[in-house]
Amino acid sequence: MNPIKHLLVVAAATASVFAHTQASAQAFPSAKPVTLVVPFAAGGPTDRVARDLAEAMRKSMGGGANFVVENVNGAGGTIGASKVAKASPDGYTLLLFHIGMASTPALYRKLSYKPLEDFEYLGMINEVPMTLIGKPQLPANTYRDFENYIRTNAGKMNIAHAGLGSASHLCGLMWQSAVKAKEAMTTIPFGGTAPAMNALVGGQVDVMCDQTTNTVGQIEAGRVKAFAVTTAKPLSSNKLLKDYPTLQEMGLKGFDLTIWHGLYAPKGTPPAVLTALNEGLKKALKDPDFIKKQEGLGAIVVADKRVEPAAHKAFVASEMDKLKAVVAAAGQYAD
Ligand code: ASP
Repeated sequence: MNPIKHLLVVAAATASVFAHTQASAQAFPSAKPVTLVVPFAAGGPTDRVARDLAEAMRKSMGGGANFVVENVNGAGGTIGASKVAKASPDGYTLLLFHIGMASTPALYRKLSYKPLEDFEYLGMINEVPMTLIGKPQLPANTYRDFENYIRTNAGKMNIAHAGLGSASHLCGLMWQSAVKAKEAMTTIPFGGTAPAMNALVGGQVDVMCDQTTNTVGQIEAGRVKAFAVTTAKPLSSNKLLKDYPTLQEMGLKGFDLTIWHGLYAPKGTPPAVLTALNEGLKKALKDPDFIKKQEGLGAIVVADKRVEPAAHKAFVASEMDKLKAVVAAAGQYAD
């Protein structure tokens, strides 16, 4: 082929690829439903955020956009995260993960993905406090009684969590280490805190630490006993949780744990698709129905700068450093 003809062929091919990319970016996300991968069991707190967000993003992105939730649970969220890291980077498979994005590198010696390198960050969603809860049959009604009961029953009790590396695992680890009761309880892992909650309500496990988005309904209905909240400040604006002490108030110096959720796409997702998703997310987080549902469960929906991809990535990196130190102080690897 002569050089001029060759150049024309290359230019035509490039134009066609460009036009195709533009068209698919413009069409996004109407080609098929966007799958939000939740790396925990259905019915739990991460799942709850995802299902509410799916509805809000369906509205905020308009034009036939559809969002569905897929639960890929196991190994404290790392199986679902790994699946999304390897998914096709077209914007149709996203990960909705929580603090596990930053805590799993501290709790696992080896992960099959790199949280800061293998994802495009779309933004933060919310912040959620945790509560320390127990099965309804426990004789203790206050945090003090509960701590005394743990000590007098050392070796006979168990604590549930959503798998090694999960938020409930992190919280339980921090709490057991702070009260020096690591030997007092056997840990029982589940695929999420929805099944763990069933076991707690049924009295098969004794204790759990979980996001308020999963616990307020159960506390209100008297199906579990709540002893304390994990935030540094009391949750004074929540009509139910304002009555529970913080762990700091109970003498656990510096105890401060708040869970957050964020949205992520596989690395290499086209910039136009990322922009569309970020705009859809920002708009969804301003949806009064979404805010109302989340606030009713003790969560705080974030806004503005915190929903910016770069700001969220910088936040996750800082959380990673912080949690590395926390886990090292608690003295435990998950694997
Ligand atoms: N709350 C869980 C955790 O401890 C996750 C879940 O089931 O949503 O990480």
